[in-house]
Amino acid sequence: MSATNQFDVIVIGAGINGAGIARDAAMRGLKVLLIDKSDIGSGTSSASTRLIHGGLRYLEHFEFGLVRESLRERETLLHIAPHLVRPLPITIPIYKQSRRGPVTIRAGMIVYDLLSFTKSLPRHRMLSRRETLEQLPGLNPEGLLGSALYFDAQVEFAERLVLENVLAAVERGAEVYTYAPVTKLTGSGVEFVSEGKKQVALASVLVNASGPWVDYLLDEASIESPKLIGGTKGSHIVVAPFAGSPGNAIYLEAESDKRPFFIIPWNGNYLIGTTDVRFEDNPDKVCSELWEIDYLLAETNRAFPGARLMRDDVLYTYSGVRPLPVTGEKDEQSITRRHFIREHPRLSNLLSIVGGKLTTYRSLAEECVDLIFRKLGRPSPPCATAKEVLPGGVNFASFAAEFKGPERLLRVYGSRANQVTQLNEDPFTSEILFAFKYEFAKTLADCFLRRTMIGLNSDRGLSHLAAAAEIATDCHR
Ligand SMILES: Cc1cc2nc3c(=O)[nH]c(=O)nc-3n(C[C@H](O)[C@H](O)[C@H](O)COP(=O)(O)OP(=O)(O)OC[C@H]3O[C@@H](n4cnc5c(N)ncnc54)[C@H](O)[C@@H]3O)c2cc1C
Repeated sequence: MSATNQFDVIVIGAGINGAGIARDAAMRGLKVLLIDKSDIGSGTSSASTRLIHGGLRYLEHFEFGLVRESLRERETLLHIAPHLVRPLPITIPIYKQSRRGPVTIRAGMIVYDLLSFTKSLPRHRMLSRRETLEQLPGLNPEGLLGSALYFDAQVEFAERLVLENVLAAVERGAEVYTYAPVTKLTGSGVEFVSEGKKQVALASVLVNASGPWVDYLLDEASIESPKLIGGTKGSHIVVAPFAGSPGNAIYLEAESDKRPFFIIPWNGNYLIGTTDVRFEDNPDKVCSELWEIDYLLAETNRAFPGARLMRDDVLYTYSGVRPLPVTGEKDEQSITRRHFIREHPRLSNLLSIVGGKLTTYRSLAEECVDLIFRKLGRPSPPCATAKEVLPGGVNFASFAAEFKGPERLLRVYGSRANQVTQLNEDPFTSEILFAFKYEFAKTLADCFLRRTMIGLNSDRGLSHLAAAAEIATDCHR
C-alpha cells in the first residue's frame, strides 16, 4: 500500500461493477483502493452468457427504461472496447408451437429497433421458413414458420473487460489488492487480509461491490442490514462445433419449459446456456449440476437434431450466481435485471451494489461515483468513461490493420498486443510474463483463465500447463 493508507474510496470486489467504479472514480481524481478476495473478474463476471445486449426479453416485463439504457451502453461499449465487444447476429426461430408467435416476435423487434435509435448495428429482418433453413440447414424444420434476425453484441472475453477497467483505474493512480478478503467494515475504513497479514485501510466512502457475496460481506462485518441479494444460479456448457451447428447465434425457446436459452458460436466452440434457478447457498460453492447439463444438451439436440450431443461431448461447464435483488417474484425470469445502489443507515459511508449486468456496468459506475462525490461533499468533475476508450482499444482499428502477429492476440490484448510480443522472442513465454508482470496475475489459474484466455480453449490450456509453470517459476525467482 502507498505510504499513507488513507483513500477517498475503497471498492470491495473487482468484478465488472467494482472495476468500473474504480476506473470512473480514479478518472475523476479520487484516490481509490480496489480489493478482491480472489482474482480480478473471477466471480460472476466470468460466468455470464457474454452478451452485451439490450435485453429483448425484458420488453415482456415492460422494462423499457432498462432496455433503453442497455442499448445505449451497448453502443458505448462497442466504442470504448472495440477489441473486446463485437456485433453479434442472432436468429430467433419461430415455431407453430412457440409461446411467442411471429406477430409477438415482430412487435418486439420493432420496439427493440425503436428503443435503439442511436445504434450503429443493422435493424432486424424477418425471414421466411425457406430463408431460415437456407441460413441454418441444421435447424429442426418441424413446425418451423420462419425466424427473426437481429443484432446485439458479444464480449468474447468478459474477464478481460473487467481487467482492462482495472488497468485503466491503475493508470489513473488506483491501488489494487487481490487475494485479500475484506473482513471488517467501519465508519473509517476496512480491514482485510493480504499475504496472511491483517491490513487496515482508511477511506471516506466504502463501496460493497461484492456481487452475490454482498450479504455475506455485510454479515461477516456485522453490519445490520435486510437481505439484499436474491441470487439465481445460471450454468453454461461448452461444446465443439457439431453436425448442423449454426453459423450465428440462436435464441431459442426450450421445448420442455418454454424458457429462452442461447446457442452461441464462441471462441471456436459453442457456448450453450443458461439455466436460471434460485440459489441461496454461498456463491463460492456454485457449480453445474447434471440435470442442467442434460437439459441444455436435450434442448440443443431438439433444435439441431443432427447434433446428437451427449455428456461426453461437453468440453467444460461453468456456473455463476446472478446478484439479483430480493423480490417476492416466484418466477426467476421475472426478477428485474435493474441495478440498485443501497445506502446503509447504520454505516453512512457505505454503499452496496445490488444487481447490474456486464452491459450496464459503466452507467452503474457513473451513478455510483456521482453519489460518492455527493457523500464526500465535493463537486464532481464530469464523468468521461463513455468517451475514453479502454487501454487495448486505443487506436485499435489502425493497429489491427497493420498488426502482423496472430489474430488471437488482437482479440485478447487489442492494441496492447505489441507490448506483449516485445517481451520475449517466444510468443507463449511473452504472454505468461506479461500476465504476471503487468496484469496482476498471481496464479497459473489467473494467467490461463483471465489473462491469456488459453484456459478457455477446448483442452482448458492443459497442454501448455507444464511450460507455463516453468516460466512462472522463473519469473518469480
Ligand atoms: C449465468 C449468467 C449469465 C449472465 N449473462 C449475462 C449477459 O449475457 N450479459 C450481461 O450483461 N450480464 C450477464 N449476467 C450478469 C452479470 O454477469 C453480473 O450481473 C455481473 O457480472 C455482476 O458483477 P459484479 O461485479 O457485481 O459481481 P462479481 O463479478 O461476482 O464480482 C464480485 C467480486 O467480489 C469479490 N468479493 C466477494 N467477497 C469479498 C470480500 N469479502 N472481500 C473482497 N472481495 C470480495 C469476489 O471475489 C468477486 O470477484 C449473467 C450472469 C449469470 C450468472
